[in-house]
Amino acid sequence: MPENNMKVNMEKIVSLCKRRGFVFQSSEIYGGLGSCWDYGPLGVELKKNIKDYWWKKVVQERDDMVGLDASIMMHPQVWVASGHVAGFSDPLVECKNCKHRFRSTDIDTSACPDCGGALSEPRMFNLMFKTFMGPVEDAANIVYLRPETAQAQFVNFDNVQSTTRKKLPFGIAQVGKSFRNEITTGNFIFRTREFEQMEIEYFVKPGTDGEWFDYWVNERLNYYVGLGIKKENLRLRQHDKEELAHYARGCFDVDYNFPIGWSEIEGIANRGDFDLTQHSKFSGKTLDYFDEEKNERYIPYVIEPSSGVDRTLLAVLCDAYDEEMADKELRVVLRINPRIAPVKVAILPLSRNAKLLPLSKEVSALLRPYFMAQYDDAQSIGRRYRRQDEIGTPYCVTIDFQSLEDNQVTIRERDSMQQSRVPVPELVEILKDKFGL
Ligand code: ATP
Repeated sequence: MPENNMKVNMEKIVSLCKRRGFVFQSSEIYGGLGSCWDYGPLGVELKKNIKDYWWKKVVQERDDMVGLDASIMMHPQVWVASGHVAGFSDPLVECKNCKHRFRSTDIDTSACPDCGGALSEPRMFNLMFKTFMGPVEDAANIVYLRPETAQAQFVNFDNVQSTTRKKLPFGIAQVGKSFRNEITTGNFIFRTREFEQMEIEYFVKPGTDGEWFDYWVNERLNYYVGLGIKKENLRLRQHDKEELAHYARGCFDVDYNFPIGWSEIEGIANRGDFDLTQHSKFSGKTLDYFDEEKNERYIPYVIEPSSGVDRTLLAVLCDAYDEEMADKELRVVLRINPRIAPVKVAILPLSRNAKLLPLSKEVSALLRPYFMAQYDDAQSIGRRYRRQDEIGTPYCVTIDFQSLEDNQVTIRERDSMQQSRVPVPELVEILKDKFGL
């Protein structure tokens, strides 16, 4: 894939994530576990803010959407009905020499990319993780770790519709972990075996699905712009007929221009009535809808915008990463949208002088109920500004000796590095205003 022309590359992001505590390798002291990652103190904040932003946009601010938080393990028949047991597979080839395995669609040579050895014929490899429920490990007790969150929205369609009395069109949104035993993982948190998804199943009247599909494709592209991602680094890619799942009536990917090239962060599919029909058939319980206006029952169609939390987070980091010369030094700055920045405000006493301590602690206590804050008094003020720039903190509040006399502090802005003095009693309101709260 072609490298994009940003100042960022994957090594810089991985290194920043480790150095500053965004993402660590899982079980690192044991040598790590392939493709599993742990989100550190800053990563967990950023991830939470991304999920909260999504929830606010797609659930809280809308009248036609409700939430769900279903269990990861579901009845095994769910995955038979959905087609995952029979068909959720990738073609796997193995090198006869070094035994390395590849998804045949990922490589364009007939020889092993690692050692040049001959490759086996492709065989289909199911991506679902299996385990056993209860103390007996036999076929009757197999359960799967869900490879997507979406099926819970389908099997709960009737529960949700009857309890909320929502009329079509309406959607069910869910955020949660999914698991896929991917053949090839990599590119940091881009493709992992355990990841988080944010999925909407939007139920519509058959016949209106075309316009709702167009609506969601646009809506989802604009969402990423609202999240702070540059428009020129986003694109829509339509799936051609060969790429479409057999039941899908249309599909677009939202791609981001990663340092590894344009790659998917979200898929939006028109799934027709496939899922509700399948679950009706396999469960024996009809998942249909009574249309009061038409006085008839039918199975709704579904539009599915399905986004990945980890890929969104990676896109946010790549997009925000910037380097510039400031005071003859290289300044690394994460120009993250302030609303999703992991730390909103840093409290920085000019020095560790004991006289500054009481007011600095007072300012910290004042801000913490409203903003995720970090108190830092180690090293020079310049270095502390750089540290906050590198983790994307939009505002630093500095307490100096003058503050002890006039009860004013300095707000320093991350992007412009401009500073302004403000009275302590007005600080919370001024910052709230800057965040648009
Ligand atoms: P890909 O083609 O990259 O494997 P997909 O088309 O199979 O992805 P979907 O089934 O559409 O992915 O899942 C929706 C979203 O979930 C993706 O856009 C992505 O953001 C996320 N996702 C899927 N698989 C993974 C994974 N292995 N690691 C991290 N995120 C993932």
